[in-house]
Amino acid sequence: MVDNFNENMRPKNYMENVVFNRLDGILASADCCKCQRCRMDIAAYALNRLPSKYVVTPRGEVYSKLLELQQQFEADVIIAIVKAIEVVKKNPRHDGMQVQGAKPDEQMR
Ligand SMILES: [Zn+2]
Repeated sequence: MVDNFNENMRPKNYMENVVFNRLDGILASADCCKCQRCRMDIAAYALNRLPSKYVVTPRGEVYSKLLELQQQFEADVIIAIVKAIEVVKKNPRHDGMQVQGAKPDEQMR
C-alpha cells in the first residue's frame, strides 16, 4: 500500500540543504578540486561537524524552515565548509578521477 503522506512527513536533516545551498558558492572561489567525489567528501565532512537539524514539515513550510536554519547557522556552515575544503584538498580521495580528467567547464581559470 503506497502512502504518499508518509513520504512527505519523513524527518529530514535540513542542515544538508543549508550546506548544499552554500557549498557551490564557496567552492567556486576556493582553490581546490571540484570533482563530484571531492564535493561530496567536503559536504560530508562539513555535515559531520555541524549539528543535525531534523525537522518534519509539510511541503509548503520547507522553504521557510530552510531560510530560518540558514540564517541561524550561516556562520557555522561557512566555517565548516571552508575547513572541510582544507581537509579534503590535503587528502583527496578521487582515485582515478584527477583534476585534469574533470570536465573543462567545471574548472576555474
Ligand atoms: Zn577531486
